[in-house]
Amino acid sequence: MKYADLHVHTTASDGTVSPSGVVELAFGVGLAAIAITDHDTVSGISEAQKAGAELGIEVIPGIEISTDYMGHDVHMLGYFIDPDSPELEPVLSWSVNEKNIRNQKIVSSLKNAGFNISLDEIERKHPGTVIGRPHIAAVMAEKGYVTSVSEGFERYLSEGRPFYVPRQRIAFADAVEFIIRSGGKAVLAHPLQYKFSQQDTEKMVSLASSHGCTGIEVYYTGYTNSDIAYLLKLSEKFMLVPTGGSDFHGDNKPHISIGQAKVPYSVIEQISPQAHS
Ligand code: AMP
Ligand code: FE
Ligand code: FE
Ligand code: ZN
Repeated sequence: MKYADLHVHTTASDGTVSPSGVVELAFGVGLAAIAITDHDTVSGISEAQKAGAELGIEVIPGIEISTDYMGHDVHMLGYFIDPDSPELEPVLSWSVNEKNIRNQKIVSSLKNAGFNISLDEIERKHPGTVIGRPHIAAVMAEKGYVTSVSEGFERYLSEGRPFYVPRQRIAFADAVEFIIRSGGKAVLAHPLQYKFSQQDTEKMVSLASSHGCTGIEVYYTGYTNSDIAYLLKLSEKFMLVPTGGSDFHGDNKPHISIGQAKVPYSVIEQISPQAHS
């Protein structure tokens, strides 16, 4: 049986493994395909596809976008988007600009509190990367302020923590529309990460479906058999394709390995733009 991991981050956003590096890892664990789903950027896709062509791994072009869903940060995946679509540029550069403004605010309040951290230093270290809180947390870990990226979030950077700064996000429905306009298919990411009640989760999935989403992530790192059974039921109820992936980020989420959550290769055919919906 052929398998695919449809949720992978690279150094183009907040992963620590390069686009060709993740393809090599996928090859190493015997996957047939992966999707590159970096936050707010498509810049890792071409390098990954080149490596994929050499190693015989199919690389699906993808993206992950943070949306605003009733004030919550809900993530939307886009698959088979055209990286050269003129629709992409304005939305992604707006989003990256919002992130940059926010990064500046976070770093300057960290500085004021006595942390020896500068955004210049972070940017120099990650050329061509969409910088976000994980890069700030990583530098805090390097300097010994915290022991891991996730401790950086838990102590300082997550919502409700002292250095949290909100940012503007694209509306949930607009993100679905934007992915479709860019030639892609939208899939609601990790529906259980938002800690909604079952009733609210169902409402979100129902809205995703009515706005034109093609699928929801059912197989995801850490989801138990009962989580999966619950999400499968929702996918059937709202006629959504059950997709899945690991959310690999390299050392930024060291407990996750590539292919840890995966789906049969046939799922790709169900979410491809050629599929009948
Ligand atoms: P930002 O794009 O700056 O809002 O950062 C959000 C990203 O940080 C998410 O997409 C996650 O990949 C990552 N993240 C959030 N919480 C954690 C955590 N506890 N440990 C590691 N990474 C995290
Ligand atoms: Fe991330
Ligand atoms: Fe996500
Ligand atoms: Zn992700």
